[in-house]
Amino acid sequence: MSYKSWRPLYQTKRQGSNNYQFYLAELNANLQERLTLENELHDALKRGEMLLHYQPKVSLISGRIIGVEALLRWQSPTYGSVSPAKFIPIAEESGLIVPIGEWVLSTACAQNRTWQKNGLPPLKMAVNLSARQFKQPNLVQMIAKILNETDLNANYLELELTESLIIDNVQQTITTLQQLHDMGIVLSLDDFGTGYSSLSYLKRFPIDILKIDQSFVRDLVFNSDDAAITEAIISLAHSLRLSVIAEGVETQEQLDYLQANGCNEIQGYYFSRPLAVADITLLLEADKKLSCNANMRTLACY
Ligand code: C2E
Ligand code: MG
Ligand code: MG
Repeated sequence: MSYKSWRPLYQTKRQGSNNYQFYLAELNANLQERLTLENELHDALKRGEMLLHYQPKVSLISGRIIGVEALLRWQSPTYGSVSPAKFIPIAEESGLIVPIGEWVLSTACAQNRTWQKNGLPPLKMAVNLSARQFKQPNLVQMIAKILNETDLNANYLELELTESLIIDNVQQTITTLQQLHDMGIVLSLDDFGTGYSSLSYLKRFPIDILKIDQSFVRDLVFNSDDAAITEAIISLAHSLRLSVIAEGVETQEQLDYLQANGCNEIQGYYFSRPLAVADITLLLEADKKLSCNANMRTLACY
């Protein structure tokens, strides 16, 4: 901003001017923080600071763990544990999400294959895909290569996509999704209900699963609007022969509600937080069973 464009603001009322200076200082601090984070993030993968945690997904029909979602964690020596909500947007804007995302896919697929080789029941491994990754022209080949290298059957990989990601360039999106689907990969729509929720793409895109956003699940039991939206998503999914999972399930009451309304799967702190690989492996080995009746109340959660 040039000095010229600043001047009129300094001529404004004292109160306004103070506000503006405060705003500029805050903007500067945010920009500074962002730049430092981006610098640190640049070599985080090389320095081995990235790791994956895994959160179980549980079937409300069998009560068993049927899959896990891989969730990226960054242990920065400078900042400690950085939340994905903070660093994923920076990785996305800077393009660093492309190598990081490839590492996530490869690590998650290799981990799933290791569990299979160790005799655990086969699970779906869900990996989040960002918009920038989805737009990479070699996405399908990159995923095929990883499946091949890790020797994982495509049926055991699930990709979590968001509505905003798939709404852009519809024709190209359909082609890419169809290629992934034809390979046997499971496709789910994450944070469903928070984006455009355009119903026409549900018909046109080869989606298998709708994931009800946690913002609806949070107050499900107290808020009749959230309850109505949740019921509508479950019913919509089933009418379109899709499966439906609720994320962010934290209480028995939410679980009971979702089960009574025919939701297929749940994921959330009620059953387990995202766990480091050693802990999730113990959980899978213990093969804990989440029974689907009133006895659920007595079950240990993790
Ligand atoms: P998401 O894919 O919707 O993941 C769900 C988020 O909800 C995760 O946050 C998870 O830890 C949190 N969560 C799970 N159960 C509960 C619960 O019962 N209550 C509450 N309050 N939260 C719960 P996390 O791990 O911080 O990830 C945030 C977002 O970052 C993810 O949202 C996803 O959009 C993104 N993300 C995480 N890992 C990756 C990755 O490997 N690649 C990409 N592109 N994005 C990722
Ligand atoms: Mg997700
Ligand atoms: Mg989500």
